[in-house]
Amino acid sequence: MNNSYKYSLDRTSKKFVCPNCHKKTFVKFIDKETKHYLNDIDGRCDRESKCGYFKKPSNNICITNNNNSITTVIQPTYHSKDIAVKYCDTLQQSSFISYLLSTFSVKSVIQAIKTYNIGITNYWQGATIFWQIDTKKKIRGGKIMLYNCNTGKRVKQPYNHVSWMHKQLKLDNFVLQQCLFGLHQINNISKDDTICIVESEKTAVIMSIVIPNFLWLATGSKTGFKKEMLQPIKEYKVIAYPDKTEYKSWNEKAILLNKEGFTIQCSSLLESLDLKEGCDLVDFLL
Ligand SMILES: [Zn+2]
Repeated sequence: MNNSYKYSLDRTSKKFVCPNCHKKTFVKFIDKETKHYLNDIDGRCDRESKCGYFKKPSNNICITNNNNSITTVIQPTYHSKDIAVKYCDTLQQSSFISYLLSTFSVKSVIQAIKTYNIGITNYWQGATIFWQIDTKKKIRGGKIMLYNCNTGKRVKQPYNHVSWMHKQLKLDNFVLQQCLFGLHQINNISKDDTICIVESEKTAVIMSIVIPNFLWLATGSKTGFKKEMLQPIKEYKVIAYPDKTEYKSWNEKAILLNKEGFTIQCSSLLESLDLKEGCDLVDFLL
């Protein structure tokens, strides 16, 4: 049975400024009876792959049954705190940790698991959970990825093995608001410390073992290198290490952000080396 609700996405072509990417591509929720827009934050951005903002009204009441596809929303924006404990990785379980143990000491791997709260799930056998925990220690999401335990490379065949814990837990109305992976650790450093930013969670974890005197954070994606994500580290000295061939894009962004008070130095190290496209610091070092 399909239900219909009090508010639905506006079906006219009217677009507003997106609260996330600030482009005029935002479709608001509308009260179907009064034809008034609900507010400025509930709605969906049309830039699905570049932005992906989609916030449903929390008070959407079911009124009739018909073929409308909007669903009701309860808003568990954060996972409960005990979930990270429940899915905590123990040694020799996730294939990512097996790979780390083949390369680094047990002590340093255990330290990394604790520091980043690395988890395990059998969503796919031996898959890893990278929790995104914000500065207030609230869990914004858990990214699930599968690695090959021998090579440490991501499993991308027969499909790219990436998902989220809220999908595994079937939390249909979970509003995912990502933060930098590792962000919770800024509570442990001082304003004089240097923060290093990479794209992949795996690289942040490995670099924290190889060069532990810096705080290593990950954007999780190329497009994650943006103001909304970097805002919490505005007051810190930041060195960004874009993947090979991403330097130009990240550097342009860093220049813009520095004009707004950020202190981000973008490293062209990988760009200057003879590496394959998309290679990162770990490919270079190991
Ligand atoms: Zn947007």
